[in-house]
Amino acid sequence: MAAFVTNTSDASDTNSAANAALAPGLYIVATPIGNLNDITLRAVDVLTRCDGVACEDTRVTGKLMRHLGLSKPLWRYNDHAEERDRARLVESMATRAVALVSDAGTPLISDPGYRLVNAAREAGVEVQTIPGPCAAIAAITLAGLPSDRFLFAGFLPVKEKARADMLVELSGIDATLVFYESAGRLVKALSAIDVALPGRRVGVARELTKLHEECRVDTPSALMAHYEAKPPKGEIVLLVEPPHETKASAEDVDTLLREALRTEKPSQAAAKVAKATGTDRKALYARAMELRG
Ligand code: SAM
Repeated sequence: MAAFVTNTSDASDTNSAANAALAPGLYIVATPIGNLNDITLRAVDVLTRCDGVACEDTRVTGKLMRHLGLSKPLWRYNDHAEERDRARLVESMATRAVALVSDAGTPLISDPGYRLVNAAREAGVEVQTIPGPCAAIAAITLAGLPSDRFLFAGFLPVKEKARADMLVELSGIDATLVFYESAGRLVKALSAIDVALPGRRVGVARELTKLHEECRVDTPSALMAHYEAKPPKGEIVLLVEPPHETKASAEDVDTLLREALRTEKPSQAAAKVAKATGTDRKALYARAMELRG
């Protein structure tokens, strides 16, 4: 059987192999999060030539397949599947090309797939990923909050205490925080963010790639006022900007200076503490001389 390598970087190879069989294995296929035109050429190619599709909900995936003019066996799969059902699916990958999709977006990202990929790898099955839409990444590109470091934390817990605990746990992380949230819980989540992460701007990215896409970036209280007056609908990604640099207190600065002066000259100690705390170096030098005196 001719093997088609879907991760070829050469488009002409892809075209010439357009009708060749897909090599057996597991193909992780991202699908649109709203706008059906966001499906990638490679995703269509794999869905066209795979032997079947493992999916969360056969009705949802059936709709996408019909939109693409495709008809394939659809197998229901989620990570809570019985171990033996997963093992059977993995075994079949020795001879079948199985595509894994979720209802929308990238499988494994707050969606099933992790256990299947793990089991497939352990069984020596070839696994390929076909990247594409992902709500968290789309939101990061839209909100204009720092994107050099971000932490995707999945869904915020529904229970108030667990939600507050998680926010406190994440409060010191120097990165934009990204959460999935439902429209019905948005205001409660904003209120919890206001308490646990005070003073930070928040982004609400809603209905991404859909007709009513919107992205608002503001203080939690302004966003709460807006969404209390106009209850949101649809799907939401919440983003929270990283913590602001906190200025060290005069007491902390003195402690650091005293410590540095034990081994260093005032000028060196001042430079060191200035670097660590962002405090003015000249002022620190003057204070170091005072402490020395
Ligand atoms: N695997 C998907 C992905 O790659 O984004 C996420 C699946 S998760 C079960 C569904 C959540 O993703 C929704 O509750 C919402 O928070 C977010 N989401 C999905 N589509 C979205 C969209 N079009 N706009 C905003 N958020 C979306």
